[in-house]
Amino acid sequence: MRVFNFAAGPSTLPLPVLEQAQKEFLDYQGTGMSIIEMSHRGKPFMAVNAEANALLRELMGIPDDYAVLFVQGGASQQFAAVPLNLLSNGKADYIVTGNFANKAYEEGLKYGDMSVAASSKEDGYTYIPDMNNVKFRDGIDYVHFTYNNTIFGTRFTDLPKTDATLVTDMSSNILSEVVDVKKFGLIYAGAQKNIAPAGVTIVIVKRDLLGKALPICPTMLNYAIQDKNDSLYNTPPCFSIYMAMLVFRHLKQMGGVPAMQKINEEKAKMLYDFIDNSKLYKNNVNKKDRSLMNVPFVTGDPDLDAKFVAEATKAGLVSLKGHRLVGGMRASIYNAMPIEGVKALIDFMKKFEMENK
Ligand SMILES: *Cc1c(COP(=O)(O)O)cnc(C)c1O
Repeated sequence: MRVFNFAAGPSTLPLPVLEQAQKEFLDYQGTGMSIIEMSHRGKPFMAVNAEANALLRELMGIPDDYAVLFVQGGASQQFAAVPLNLLSNGKADYIVTGNFANKAYEEGLKYGDMSVAASSKEDGYTYIPDMNNVKFRDGIDYVHFTYNNTIFGTRFTDLPKTDATLVTDMSSNILSEVVDVKKFGLIYAGAQKNIAPAGVTIVIVKRDLLGKALPICPTMLNYAIQDKNDSLYNTPPCFSIYMAMLVFRHLKQMGGVPAMQKINEEKAKMLYDFIDNSKLYKNNVNKKDRSLMNVPFVTGDPDLDAKFVAEATKAGLVSLKGHRLVGGMRASIYNAMPIEGVKALIDFMKKFEMENK
């Protein structure tokens, strides 16, 4: 029996996608081989690579003057790749709204003059700074921010006000809500939250930003080289790209990103409304900055939190333990979490509250 899996990443994937992968795992389209056993330069995989790229472009409305790259090293590798490719003036500003945002800033410090334009660290990263009050330095190469903060459960609903290039980490909310790609110079996302198994990282970058990498930029991190080679400069993470393609097909069939956004808003509203009206549970995030994807909550008593997680697991609702930096619980409700999963969680929360008054 499959459980409802609320893990933050790697996380649950759509059942029809897993079934499709299982069906063709031993013999991919009559080749007598698995997709993970064949050359990445052979026709079948090249077709997968091209279709995944085309579908992502279609789903996100990515203009032709943007490159779509499938690279490795996770989102964390992009913390270095971004400055190594874009820092031609030697300075950039960061908005620090969580652990990953801070890691990106600290990695950036190795390569240039980086500055924190705003941070919510003092308040435990429970809100997103008001973009109307955040000022940036002159002459910067980019502004970096983390669109959705996976650990703290916040999300940007307004973009930084600047003419500088916007760079954003969308690891935990890519394809969950409509975004206007044209407003960004670069978007990156590890696949293992909302797209595919771990292994592939998506980079969407405006081509006119390419070709200015620092001389020390490793070949493998150079976006222009990856673009020129259709992300096949070396052996790519074939299985993750194949799974991403299946997920993209599935999303298209579901009505694309607007349809996902609608369902995601409905799921999140249901859960936040329940938490706000309960006497036992509390979400500590500023309401307007609440994430649609990651919902942290606490009872206020660490022992009761632990009991909640243990009993939920027994009830088939798994991976609800909060991140060690926050404690309590966290329900990650990505695209692949069906509305039934959120309803089952709320039913369990009600029952637990009754039993633990
Ligand atoms: C998970 C996550 C990361 C780290 O991703 P890796 O692929 O493990 O390097 C970075 N940023 C955000 C927003 C994340 O959710």
